[in-house]
Formats: sequence, C-alpha cells, structure tokens
Amino acid sequence: MKTPFGAQCSYYYEDMHRGREHQECRLLHTSQSDWNVNLCKTCHVPRWQQCNSCEHLEYRAIVTPGVFGFWRRMSITVWCKNVESEVTEPEIGCGNCHQQNPVLENLTQ
Ligand code: SF4
Ligand code: SF4
Repeated sequence: MKTPFGAQCSYYYEDMHRGREHQECRLLHTSQSDWNVNLCKTCHVPRWQQCNSCEHLEYRAIVTPGVFGFWRRMSITVWCKNVESEVTEPEIGCGNCHQQNPVLENLTQ
C-alpha cells in the first residue's frame, strides 16, 4: 500500500472508508502507541523493498524516541533468514548468495 508520502510499503495499512481514519505500520509487532504516520516520511523500508526483493529478508523495527519529542524515527535492522546474518546494506543485499551462484562467481574471476 502507498504511504501518504507516495512510497510503496508492504507494511503500511490504512482504512479510510466511511469516516474511519485508521493508519498502521504492520512492521511493528508491539504496541504502536509511539508510531504515527509521519515516521513513514523518513523510513528506509520502502526504498529497501524497491531495491531488494529477496524473500529471505526480514525487517525488524522499533521507534527511537528522539530528544524532547524531536528526531523520532524508525530504527530498522534487516536480517537474512537464509544465511542467518544481519544485512548491513539492504539496498544491495548481503552478497552471500552471489558468492554461491556459479554464474556470478565466474564473472568475477
Ligand atoms: S514506518 Fe516504514 S515500515 Fe512502517 S509503514 Fe511507514 S514506511 Fe512502512
Ligand atoms: S544472502 Fe542476500 S540475496 Fe541471499 S538470501 Fe540472504 S539477503 Fe537474500
């Protein structure tokens, strides 16, 4: 679903039918009391999802509190369920699959 800021995010959900004004981030598993839709504006997830569609990626998120109510943001870590390690550059991927791919391996030799 598209966030109000125009980015496509698979975790964003809204229901605006018949006077409802429900918006949520389904990436946050715990209480969403500290989440609001403005956090989507600076969230990296839509761009990462656009760049890397690997089905083994798992996103984990918390809302960092910021200082005096400012600079609150989504803090996201990305995990590869396939190789059981953190993916530090999700827009590129962790690259381990590339090493196991014989075609790509030959290209880099
Ligand atoms: S905060 Fe990020 S992950 Fe959550 S709905 Fe917004 S863009 Fe998606
Ligand atoms: S190593 Fe990279 S490409 Fe391979 S499954 Fe993990 S995240 Fe996906």
